[in-house]
Amino acid sequence: HVPLVVTNLAKTYSNGFRAVDGVSFRVEHGQVLGLLGPNGAGKTTTLRMVMGLIKPAAGEVRVFGHKITAGAPVLSRLGAFIDGPGLLPHLSGAENLRLFWLATGRPAEDAHLDEVVAIADLGAAIDRKVRSYSHGMRQRLAIAQAMLGLPDLLILDEPTNGLDPPQIRTMRDVLISYAKRGRTVVVSSHLLAEVEQTCTHVVVMNQGKVISSGSVRDLVSAG
Ligand code: ADP
Ligand code: ADP
Repeated sequence: HVPLVVTNLAKTYSNGFRAVDGVSFRVEHGQVLGLLGPNGAGKTTTLRMVMGLIKPAAGEVRVFGHKITAGAPVLSRLGAFIDGPGLLPHLSGAENLRLFWLATGRPAEDAHLDEVVAIADLGAAIDRKVRSYSHGMRQRLAIAQAMLGLPDLLILDEPTNGLDPPQIRTMRDVLISYAKRGRTVVVSSHLLAEVEQTCTHVVVMNQGKVISSGSVRDLVSAG
């Protein structure tokens, strides 16, 4: 099954604003797909529907062939980072990850904690309290949380927000390293350069619609 197929997705908020208007795209196995667009383009709204956090007005989301329904438990093959880190500062990074995994009710060995810590490049800092972390490390810990269990599809909403250029490069390496393990990544961004450096494919959104999509190579050569 294809990791993600989004078909004619639409969302109108209660104030009547149509934030997403007929969005379709698909993500194949092993791709790193960048959802690119300016603030307000509808990226977060789209990703929230993909995760089943809000109900579409129309259209459909399928993750590995399963139809996503708003409010239903998120599939165990899908990991997500959205809305900033829900981290506990007085606990260590490792304690945060263990506690988060415990809440999923899945067996401890299925978390692949050591591998996730290595991919997220947290190193020895994993045993320090989160309140001592830099912003970039907090962000990587939050992403490590989404990577627990090594989900086949990882979805990240603007993971580089607020990071400086070296931290952005580290984040890029983390995502590429995750995808190299045969997994699929969808990441939103408002920065073309970031998508160009990190992603294999891109879907460009503006004002709730897809205005272009394809491989990053084609996007770049088309100017
Ligand atoms: P829905 O239409 O899905 O019921 P609501 O209009 O009730 O959504 O808003 C849900 C949440 O989004 C609220 O917490 C609200 O404050 C917030 N929100 C409202 N307008 C905006 C906006 N323009 N951009 C971002 N968030 C908003
Ligand atoms: P992006 O992630 O690309 O910045 P969003 O999906 O957050 O875009 O928002 C798309 C549009 O929908 C924006 O104009 C935003 O203000 C509006 N919006 C987001 N949430 C709400 C809400 N709860 N109620 C009303 N409008 C919203």
